[in-house]
Parts: sequence; structure tokens; C-alpha cells
Amino acid sequence: MRTPSRLLAVAAALGTLVATAPPAYAAPTVRRTAVVLLDFRDSALRDPDKVRATFAAQFFGPAPSVVSYYEEASDGRLRYAPVGDGGLFGPWPADLDATCDFTAIQRAGRAALADHGVPADAYDQLAVVIPSQKNKCAWAGLASVPGGTALLMDYLSLTGTVHELGHNLGLSHERRLVCEPASVAACAEDGYSDRSPIGGGGLVGLSAPELIHTGWLPADRRVAVTRTGRWTLAALHAPRDRPGPRALEIAVGARKVVVEYRAKATIDTTTPGVYAYRVDNAKYADAPLLDATPGTKGTDDTALAVGRPFTDAAAKVTVTVRSVGASGAEVEVRIGDAPSPSPSPTPSPSPSVTPSPSASATVPASEDPAAAEPVTPTPRSQPVPADSSYSWYAAGGALLLLTCAGALLLLLRRRR
Ligand SMILES: [Zn+2]
Repeated sequence: MRTPSRLLAVAAALGTLVATAPPAYAAPTVRRTAVVLLDFRDSALRDPDKVRATFAAQFFGPAPSVVSYYEEASDGRLRYAPVGDGGLFGPWPADLDATCDFTAIQRAGRAALADHGVPADAYDQLAVVIPSQKNKCAWAGLASVPGGTALLMDYLSLTGTVHELGHNLGLSHERRLVCEPASVAACAEDGYSDRSPIGGGGLVGLSAPELIHTGWLPADRRVAVTRTGRWTLAALHAPRDRPGPRALEIAVGARKVVVEYRAKATIDTTTPGVYAYRVDNAKYADAPLLDATPGTKGTDDTALAVGRPFTDAAAKVTVTVRSVGASGAEVEVRIGDAPSPSPSPTPSPSPSVTPSPSASATVPASEDPAAAEPVTPTPRSQPVPADSSYSWYAAGGALLLLTCAGALLLLLRRRR
């Protein structure tokens, strides 16, 4: 069964998002956060004390929590701050029978907060936790993209909550593309990237395109590659004092390919390796992973193998990982018909000329396709529940996303 389409009204109080590319040591953007627990008329939270304690710890507790995750992911640029005394409210009765209606639930949450003296202008981020036993929704969480509202089922894990808040920051589900040989243009989707919480990868770091979108990978950590050369990438999530570029942005025809090096560092526990993403029309928030081993199923071998060229023949661009080690990943890029560059020295990274992507709450409609997001096969050989669906909704020039059906939650490794 597919979830029927619903046109979602634009939430009136979309949260303030992070500033674009803030200086590395700027004061953090604070999202004042209210988490409200609701009971439906016909079904209350079964163990309200436990749910309240669980979500209090999930949002504002010691690591791992929402606060700790986004503190690390943003390198100190974003902080979720509890509203009032601890940020948790309720459970309060909603004037609703059990429902999956995004608009009705978020309105009930806002109304309950207002009735208890917490007006809408007192918070930037709202999370509404609802009972799950009777509404039988096809999703475990919903979020506006971008925006300041998330709906969470009472059983949702920390990974799921981090995923929903990523949507609120404007991030789409990060997909995986399997392309024809020597092309980054002729590609088909094949599930999720597995490299990000918003790509079904569990509680790992964000990908380079996601960090560029949110403004958390400043220009001096990126290299705009327009010529043949070699660069040594530091691990994407290495501590901030580690020198070196963290991503290459390679012009490939009208597109860009963003290359990152993932290694075990801080919050990042994803499979180490050098990964490439395709960015169309500067849509960093929706940049799919390019599977560098397209002949195989699964996501464990999607990294670029050392010494094996990754090519777009039409654009005459070849990316080759030359080495991976403690000092970083050495990546060679050949553009045009230039001969292979000398193996040393590594050129100094030039400042990126990439325009900083907007992270504002008023992402234009063209930022995301207003088309149906396909139901994707899972990358981990797990069955897709028959009632799963993912749908996009456009309303009033802004875009909201009904998302996160059961299939995705199967992919979210619980790492608490
Ligand atoms: Zn989602």
C-alpha cells in the first residue's frame, strides 16, 4: 500500500537555519528546541515517563545525543538548546484521534505549547513525539525540508531523530548512483549512500556535500579543481586543527564531482575510503554518491579503489586515488588530455571559487525536485516493506518532505 499523497501546508514558523559558511570560531548558531509529547484522544503514550526520559536523553543528554552529534558534525557551529526547564514538555492531550497527518499534529503540538505559556516565537526547532500504537503510519518520523518541525514516533531511535533534524537543515535522502562505464552522467539510482545518517548510514558523520550545504565545510577547506594535479585530502571529520583540504570540487562538464576522504575520526565511523558524489546545479543538499564499483551490489565497496581510475570520458576527467595513509589520501585529477602529473610535490590547494551554497530557510523551489521521490531498493538486501513510500510535496514555492518510511528505518543502524 502506498501512502496517499497529502499536500502539506508550509509551516508558519520555519526555524532559523545556520548562517552560510561561518568563520571557524564564530559563535554557534543556536536552535532553541522544544520537544513536546502528545497523547491522542483515543491512544495515549503507553509509558509516558519512559518516553519522556528517553527523548530528554536523546536530545539533550550526554553523548551520544542530538546536541553532541550536531556539535561535532558542525564543528561547533550549531547548538540545539533546550527551551525552558529542560526542553521537554508534556505529555499533553491533543484534540485529535490517532492520525498520521503532519499538519494536524504539528499544529496540535504548537497549540499545546502556547496553551502552556510557550509561544511559537520562543523556539526555532519543534519536535512532536506521538503515540505509535494506533495510527499505524508508514513512517517513523517526518520532517519539513528545510524547516523547524519534526514529528517523531515514540519508538524512534537517536539515529532516526538525527536523520529527521538533518531534513530540517535542508538535507535530502542521500542516494547512491550506479553509472555506465566512464560516465557520471548515465546513471541509475540504487538505494542509499550509506555514508550519512540522512543516507541510511547510521550515526556516522555527514558527507562532504552535506557539510558544504550546511556551511560547515568552509571554502578554505575545499579545493575547486579546474586543472590537472594532485592533492592530499585530510580526513573529512578529522579534528579542526588538522591542516589540509577536506574535499575536492571537480568540474565535470556542467556538473561537479565532490571527492572526500573518510577515515575513523571524531563522530565518523563509516567505512573508510575516498568517495565521490555528483552535484548537479549546485544542489549540495541532494548530491548522490557515485558507486565506484558499479558492477557489484551493496555499499561496502563504493569507495574509489587505490590505483583504479574513475573517469568521465565525455568531460575528459579522471580521478585516481594514489595512496591512502595516516597522512591522508592522495588524489590525482586529470583534466583534458594533459599527461599524468608528476607524483610530487602535492600542489598547494587553491582557494575554492565555489559559491557558498545557501543554507537559508528560503531554499528556492528549484533547490529540490518537486517530483515523486522513487521508492528505492535497499542497499542491504533487506526487504522493502510493502507499505513504504517516499513522497515529495511542493506547496507555495517551498518544499516539504514526507519521508522516512519503514524501509529507511531498517537501514538506520542503531548505534546507541
Ligand atoms: Zn528521511
